[in-house]
Amino acid sequence: DFRVRYAPSPTGHLHIGGARTALFNYLIARKEGGRFIIRFEDTDQTRHQESGIGNQLDGLKWLGVDWDESVDIGGPYGPYRQTERLHLYKPFIEQLLGSGDAYYCYCSEADLEQERAEQEAQGLMPMYSGKCRHLTPEQAEAYRVEGRKPSIRFRVPENRTISFTDRIREQVEFETNGIGDFIIVRPDGIPTYNFAVILDDHLMKINLVIRGEEHLTNTPRQIMMYEALGLPIPEFAHLSLILNQDRKKMSKRDESIIQFMEQYRDLGYLPEAIMNFIALLGWSPKGEEEIFSKEELIAQFDLSRVSKSPAVFDMDKLNWMNNVYIKKADTDRIVALALPHLQKAGRLPESLSAEQEQWVRSLVGLYQEQLRFAAEIVQLSELFFREDVTFENDEAKAMLAEPHAPIVLGSFLSQVEQAADFTVDAMKGIMKAVQTETGYKGKPLFMTVRVALTGQMHGPDLNMTMYLLGKETVMNRVKKLL
Ligand code: GLU
Repeated sequence: DFRVRYAPSPTGHLHIGGARTALFNYLIARKEGGRFIIRFEDTDQTRHQESGIGNQLDGLKWLGVDWDESVDIGGPYGPYRQTERLHLYKPFIEQLLGSGDAYYCYCSEADLEQERAEQEAQGLMPMYSGKCRHLTPEQAEAYRVEGRKPSIRFRVPENRTISFTDRIREQVEFETNGIGDFIIVRPDGIPTYNFAVILDDHLMKINLVIRGEEHLTNTPRQIMMYEALGLPIPEFAHLSLILNQDRKKMSKRDESIIQFMEQYRDLGYLPEAIMNFIALLGWSPKGEEEIFSKEELIAQFDLSRVSKSPAVFDMDKLNWMNNVYIKKADTDRIVALALPHLQKAGRLPESLSAEQEQWVRSLVGLYQEQLRFAAEIVQLSELFFREDVTFENDEAKAMLAEPHAPIVLGSFLSQVEQAADFTVDAMKGIMKAVQTETGYKGKPLFMTVRVALTGQMHGPDLNMTMYLLGKETVMNRVKKLL
């Protein structure tokens, strides 16, 4: 049975990095016909937020990722959050203490602080000295009487090289002499990440661990514990860092990049576009194609084509890709995403008449080719909601100073005034009539009318734009100019 997992610490919203880890696990599970498990590492009480679990699952659901076992649907190897699994860890703690691979450590924070300071003063890498390795029962007893609460440390074997074959990074080696005895159970009895993670992966029968590169240095620690416990060791695949556009390590405060799934959802990005984009953060498909449906991703995803060099997060590419998906999408779907933004901006009332509904559908349709994300409708369609036209630049303004402009606009105004109906088809007739009357066609005709009505030299379909502005607005805008 092929089993992989995503094991977030539920500290907040679903970040792009976590989403990528989850997605890669998901894709490979589906491709191999395996199981995808989501487990929550919530033993770090200080960082843990209760809402984090819901946020993670909601974010993944939105993205289009589903799972086979987790806190919400259960599964044969639950519970799926660490704080509910504490009893399962006990026998393993006993085993390590019994074999001498772990020991009680009574060092206080102050002791450790002093030790670190001394090591640093000598120019050494701070590392636990192993002071409590050889405590006599009397010394231990004395500490207990003092009221000290011990932690439990793993005894790191000396002079060994821990090596493993990472599915992405290939051969990886660590010297144990660079690793101090580390804490596996805190004084409050709660296991640390490094210990709990191997027990969960073992008990949940995980055979491939796919996670971020920041965990690479944890892996030798975990392997040593698997070995000490005599447990089979899973395979590992560490995903490279994600860098920002400046090729610097992405920080969660970096505002040049949108980083949380919730933000994408709120701005009206399409989840299938975000999934497509995230899949390409480190994975490169065969061939030139970049647009992949979920089914295609599942069919083509392959760890052997995941790069060990960092992935660069390109926001422009993401916007390009989202636009590709918006163009293909059903207009009603984009309307549903865009309308709340128009309402929030005060452009439209909370409840719409049938006529307004039709109007907004046409408005969104008008910009559908251009939209990079649904919220952008507010800014793109501004000219429909303003009293007066504002010119995008001097060049646009200069168009109306051309000698033909008053001729074209005068004729246009009288055609509009006479128009019995104001449908999109009628617009064609109006423009045709202006052409016949003035003898102008092409740019002098269309650009003049466009600039007069919108202030812009380029934009979406002119007939539709006029129709959506409505007869009154069209006439007012031209009258003001004449
Ligand atoms: N809880 C860890 C994290 O959020 C996951 C570690 C792992 O996948 O082993 O980074």
